[in-house]
Amino acid sequence: MTLKMACPQCGATMLLNLSTSKVKCPKCGYLRPDEIGQLDKKIEQLRTQKPRPVISINHREQIEPRALAAFETGQYCLDRDDKAGALDAFRRAAQIQEDFADAHLWVAKLAIDRKEQRDALETL
Ligand SMILES: [Zn+2]
Repeated sequence: MTLKMACPQCGATMLLNLSTSKVKCPKCGYLRPDEIGQLDKKIEQLRTQKPRPVISINHREQIEPRALAAFETGQYCLDRDDKAGALDAFRRAAQIQEDFADAHLWVAKLAIDRKEQRDALETL
C-alpha cells in the first residue's frame, strides 16, 4: 500500500507495511510508527459521516459515469456558445440519470420550449 505522504527527511513517498503497521520511507529508511493510529482515526471519521444526498455535480462520485460524460460535453458546448449542442448533452445526462439535478437545471435553463422547461424543473 502506498500512502500519499512524503518522507520528512528526503521527500520520497512513504510506504505502509501492512504486516508490521509501520510507515517507512523506502529511500532513506525513515520510520513513522504512529501512522497506523492516525489511519484508524481517519477511517473511524469516514465511517461516522452521514452519506450525502445526490443533488449536485459536487457529488461526482455518485453520478453515473455516462451521465457525467454527457454533462461535461454540455459544459464544453456552453463554453463554445453552442447552446443547441449543450441542451442535447444535458438532456442526455438527465435521461441517463434521472436524479441528476444539475442536468435538469441546465435543461430548464436552456430549453426554449416552456413545457420542457417546466417538465425539467418538476423532476427536481
Ligand atoms: Zn526518506
